[in-house]
Amino acid sequence: MQALRLAYAASAGRETLRAVGVIGCGPLGLTSALLAQQAGLSVCIYAKALPPGVPSMGATGIWSPDSRFCDVQHGPAWASRWNEMADASFSQFQRVAQLPGSSIEWVNGYRLSDVPFSSEEKPARTKDAWEPEYAEFARKFLPPQVELPPGSHPFPAPYARGWTSLMFNITSYASSLMTDFLDAGGQIKIQEFTHPDELLVLPEDTLINATGYGAKLLFNDHTIIPVRGQTVRLVPQPEVRYGLRAQDFLVMPRRDGVLIQNMDDAGSFDNSNDEPDYADAIAVVEQVAAYVSRMRC
Ligand SMILES: Cc1cc2nc3c(=O)[nH]c(=O)nc-3n(C[C@H](O)[C@H](O)[C@H](O)COP(=O)(O)OP(=O)(O)OC[C@H]3O[C@@H](n4cnc5c(N)ncnc54)[C@H](O)[C@@H]3O)c2cc1C
Repeated sequence: MQALRLAYAASAGRETLRAVGVIGCGPLGLTSALLAQQAGLSVCIYAKALPPGVPSMGATGIWSPDSRFCDVQHGPAWASRWNEMADASFSQFQRVAQLPGSSIEWVNGYRLSDVPFSSEEKPARTKDAWEPEYAEFARKFLPPQVELPPGSHPFPAPYARGWTSLMFNITSYASSLMTDFLDAGGQIKIQEFTHPDELLVLPEDTLINATGYGAKLLFNDHTIIPVRGQTVRLVPQPEVRYGLRAQDFLVMPRRDGVLIQNMDDAGSFDNSNDEPDYADAIAVVEQVAAYVSRMRC
């Protein structure tokens, strides 16, 4: 959004801005860079790593702007900005979802629970996080969720709820962003910054910070907290056509590989260790296999 505003300002002739530097080449850096290019600016991306070697490539890929946005004391002040960002993002993505060759598609899935959804407790890890009011969010952007009565579905849990959302095949998405950026004359320089002062010598007057979790170290910003644990990618299985969210795992049927996320978040909150854990990966895959083997045919 910052890039968008900057771009509007530049194209309206209110600024003499012509060149922008973007620090970081994950999906957010590339998106900011493309928006600035679309407004006629010349853009150089500076990053220590490029896709697919950036942290985002391990993400799940659901369009989920309502997920653990910021801490509770700052949330309300962000509400209108959040709405604006979610609106812009949804209107952009739903226009290209499902087009031939697009990395963004609509996906159906089921959320499963052992207890009625109305009596589910909010997980402890999200209690101090501000999230947009979910019902309002869902009503605004996504098709309504549908409750399936116990016994009417094949899942082992008694309570099931069908949902529909947008899903990103992240590696192909990042690759197409990068192609668009380079085709439009964008430049990329591989560079690691170890102190904010190093940014001051860059030739561009205006910089966009898109360093993701890297901002914690670079700007000594300890308000940035890692919240997710291990994800596992299985080889693509076109016959898997819907997502499944049970208490301890999430399965997403991405075309670039079935994604399994361990949702047993114990130890994930504020854990900066991003080394893949092979034993954890095998355990969650076995858990999913055992669960689906109990489904009724
Ligand atoms: C397991 C997991 C699941 C997730 N699931 C979802 C999901 O379903 N939906 C969702 O919306 N979000 C999800 N997220 C969050 C989402 O992936 C991130 O918020 C988002 O991808 C961050 O993108 P980015 O482009 O800002 O950062 P990154 O992909 O981290 O890119 C950062 C860029 O900055 C560069 N950089 C960093 N530090 C420096 C430095 N000092 N000097 C030079 N360059 C630097 C890096 O090299 C890289 O190019 C998930 C995250 C994880 C870990």
